[in-house]
Amino acid sequence: MNDDDLFKLPRLYIDAPIQKDRVVPLSADQAHYFKTVLRRQDGDNVRIFNGRDGEFLCVLQEMTKKGGTAFAERQTREQPADSSAVHLFFAPIKKSRMDWLVEKAIELGATDLHPVVTQNTEVRELNTKRLMQQMQEAAEQCERLDLPVLHDLIKLNTLAAQAPKDTVLLAALERGDTQPVTDVIRPGQSIAILIGPEGGFTAQESTWIQTQSGWVPVSLGPRILRSETAACVALTAVMLKGRSDNDGNH
Ligand code: SAM
Repeated sequence: MNDDDLFKLPRLYIDAPIQKDRVVPLSADQAHYFKTVLRRQDGDNVRIFNGRDGEFLCVLQEMTKKGGTAFAERQTREQPADSSAVHLFFAPIKKSRMDWLVEKAIELGATDLHPVVTQNTEVRELNTKRLMQQMQEAAEQCERLDLPVLHDLIKLNTLAAQAPKDTVLLAALERGDTQPVTDVIRPGQSIAILIGPEGGFTAQESTWIQTQSGWVPVSLGPRILRSETAACVALTAVMLKGRSDNDGNH
């Protein structure tokens, strides 16, 4: 099978070990997805990955309402060595916009999503199961080999303590005399980017971020972007400027 045919095969994340010439158990939901949603049957090829063992070409077997198995014929892509992390700290926004933000963040390479409550954050409760499902579907669709992590909701004033170690910490602040995000990013670094809510950070929060949080303020350009656009611009800058050759996802 050539690469073009391989890329056309359905691709599913499965949280189980995958090894060549072994079967991987499929849950009732996974079998239902292949059988009923994608109309695949026993003997059909699919691709599966688990975020640890790379991606495998598999053959579906024994598909019933109760589950099934996938026989791992061969590895199609190796799991890359750990590359630099890309953390997106974002204030939750309304449902359809957040769906969009999460999907695009995964496509653009975020490895860790951290929801943050700020004073102007309107959405203060998250449906984490739904968000994780969206993250998984986006990872399947965009051919990632890893599954990004959704972290617990935190408060902005705990940001200094919650900051990931050995990581460049960047806070997107509009209307300031700040350096462009692209001037700060270097290849191979782990990066965290903070994006505010639709109402923006309050003046007090903005001052705290700039003076005490340890995060470096950056600009995302001359216009005021919606939160989800701002997240995409920042992640695009990281993807294009901060990419290291060790970024094995593509
Ligand atoms: N309500 C705010 C205002 O009008 O000043 C705008 C907030 S903006 C919709 C939401 C978030 O996106 C901001 O808190 C900031 O993190 C980010 N953002 C938007 N445009 C930006 C820019 N040009 N530079 C840096 N950050 C930006």
